[in-house]
Amino acid sequence: MEVAGWWVLRPDAAMAFRDREILEALPRYVKAARGEVEAQFVLAKRLKAPSGLSGERAWEEHRALVGELRDLIREVDSGSPLPERPEFSLLDLKVRLARELASPCTLCERRCGVDRLSGLAGVCGVGGAPRVASAFIHMGEEAPITPSGTVFFSGCNFRCVFCQNWDISQEPDSGRPVDAHYLASLFEALRERGARNVNLVGGEPTPNLPWILEALRLTRVSVPVVWNSNMYMSEKATELLLGVIDLWLPDFKYWEDPHALKYSSAPRYREVVTRNIRMAYDHWPEMVIRHLVMPGHVDCCTVPILRWIADNTPGALVNVMDQYRPEYRAHRFPEIARRPTREEIVRAREEAERLGLRWRSVS
Ligand code: SF4
Repeated sequence: MEVAGWWVLRPDAAMAFRDREILEALPRYVKAARGEVEAQFVLAKRLKAPSGLSGERAWEEHRALVGELRDLIREVDSGSPLPERPEFSLLDLKVRLARELASPCTLCERRCGVDRLSGLAGVCGVGGAPRVASAFIHMGEEAPITPSGTVFFSGCNFRCVFCQNWDISQEPDSGRPVDAHYLASLFEALRERGARNVNLVGGEPTPNLPWILEALRLTRVSVPVVWNSNMYMSEKATELLLGVIDLWLPDFKYWEDPHALKYSSAPRYREVVTRNIRMAYDHWPEMVIRHLVMPGHVDCCTVPILRWIADNTPGALVNVMDQYRPEYRAHRFPEIARRPTREEIVRAREEAERLGLRWRSVS
């Protein structure tokens, strides 16, 4: 079923899969969205894994299998038959390892150490089950992502003072608790209603990783998965996403750590986020990086971030976002209590152009 008349609302999205820049940057995602190849999680379900391993041996095996999965994707895309589903698969192993990371919780670099599986919550406020604030076909995402089957999870491990979704991110009890079966049926319904993808966002999807992976295990349709995240995952949580995510959609907000600490309460921001974006890109370079241009932060954050992208993830699409508004508690910080000026946005986009970044098709 298609979303009726969506191409009238977003003609740029309707034309996106013919855009050369998008086709060069996101070749397999486009095919998966069109249903021409399987989403990666479908193949992760078909790759046999040993069921008896634990501890570091299990992680080593996981790393090897994630490499093998890339070969399997290539083979199946070129016409080899899909293998039978094994008794225990790479995706099963991912679910098991993700549950271990949740108890004690080190899913993100907050490393709260609480036992999430027994219902306790850490900084993110997410306890023993995800809560979904809303889920719908989003018509306002970047052109290649729209129409997007967006799932908004409640709770977040950041405290951004300008958060536009603060009623979801800073209210972890908003929405309704769901289990993996419900999430799987949500993913299926969004795809059947014409979504090009399942877009996992919030708040922040990271605290919900074990339930998301379990839901993908149960999902019976092929739909590309978009990871729409602040990228503050722990290294091991990032590893678990490799071989599951078809399109990375990371935020990259700050270059200067004191700014990340002041406005998002996020220590070691640059180190963690650059590490995770590199890990994701090096494994699977189909990526749209979102950079929100903040007032007064072009020289200290925007320019060095764009330079880092040019040096480290040059094939990624970059959305140089102009939609910053002083929402939530931003009025308490006079220096960011305004919209960016037209000159600031022009300067940011000129820098992206000068660096040869792929920004035009998604900004
Ligand atoms: S996911 Fe939540 S509980 Fe786990 S480490 Fe991060 S903030 Fe803490």
